[in-house]
Formats: sequence, C-alpha cells, structure tokens
Amino acid sequence: MTFAFAPTEQVSLPIVGSELRFPVHRVYCVGRNYAEHVKEMGGEVGRDPPFFFAKPADALVTDNRFPYPSLSTDVHREVELVVALGPGAELFGHAVGLDMTRRDLQAAAKKLGRPWEVAKGFDHSAPVSPIVPGNAALSSGAITLDVNGLLRQTGDIAEMIWSVPAIIAELGRLFTLQPGDLIFTGTPAGVGPVARGDRLHAEIAGVGALTVDVI
Ligand code: MN
Repeated sequence: MTFAFAPTEQVSLPIVGSELRFPVHRVYCVGRNYAEHVKEMGGEVGRDPPFFFAKPADALVTDNRFPYPSLSTDVHREVELVVALGPGAELFGHAVGLDMTRRDLQAAAKKLGRPWEVAKGFDHSAPVSPIVPGNAALSSGAITLDVNGLLRQTGDIAEMIWSVPAIIAELGRLFTLQPGDLIFTGTPAGVGPVARGDRLHAEIAGVGALTVDVI
C-alpha cells in the first residue's frame, strides 16, 4: 500500500524494565468513578453512575511537560490510574496518568448539552507515566497528587465505584477492546486548577509516579 502522504507516527509508551514500546490504540476515560469526586462535581452517588468518554491517542504526553492550552482560563488536573490492554485485550499493565481538563469549556458544554472533546481531548491533555507490566488488576493502593509540593488529591484505588475488571467488562459491552487500548479510570476528590510554572507530582502505590511541569 502506498499512502498519498506520510501517515502520522504510531503513538507508543515506554514499558518499565523493557526496551520494547507499548503501541497505543485508543484512549478511553471513565468519568465519576470515585464517590467523593462525584459529590465535588455536584453529582449524587447512585443517581450519577460512572460513564465513558475518550481522548485521541496523540493527546498522550510522555515528556513530562504540559503546555497550558489555548482558549481556556480554568484548566484542571485529575490524577488517575491508567489501565493498559495487551494481546487479546487482556490486562497488560498499569500507569499513572493525568486527565487534564478545560473545566470552563466543559461547564459550557454541559450547560448546552454538547460533547466534551474540546474540554477533554485537546492536544497534550493526557500526560502518562511509563507502563508497569503485570496482569493482576490493581484493586487497592493510595493515589495522590501534589501541586508544588502541596498535597491536593488523595484517595485509594479501592474506592473506585467500578473496579478495573468492572471497567473492562462495561467498556467491552460498548466497544471492541483492542491490544494497545488505554483506560483512564477516573479521579478521586480534590480536582483543581493549574497555572504555568506549576509542578504536578502524581503517585499510585504499586504503580509509580509521574511528574509534569505546566509550561
Ligand atoms: Mn477524569
């Protein structure tokens, strides 16, 4: 096959302890998967169950730098456990991610009943750590986010409304899951804005850490 022009590069992530790269297919995200975050966003646990949205694969950031996006003055950080699917769409590993969100544009979209792409799927909206391989689903462990050394988000993976296996099962009813798919599994309470010059440091016990500078 000969393309009319050079295709864009295959997006990939490093794998801890390996020279091989993880080739990314799709990036799915779960919304409202921690009760305390549901409440801080004005929702009601039970009435507002988790749901899915997506980001483009090339929104992933692996160089630890987040350029403050255009057309927003209220950009939030959401620390999240990221699940990586490998061959057979089986669990391949986990990573630490940030679901960066233009909260002002998201609020406008919600009010108008419009889709969320401009709020959630913008360029550089998905900083992520290298993948830690392992086929056992993470079911507990502290998840935290510091901004400039101050603790801003804290929770535990055990608090997720949909567990990792439940997310994979739910998502698989809606889409054909493929090797290379990533799933951002939702954020605990304590979301808030970032500013240029901020240093974000996310950690998940048993997975690792991710440091990102807002530039
Ligand atoms: Mn999120």
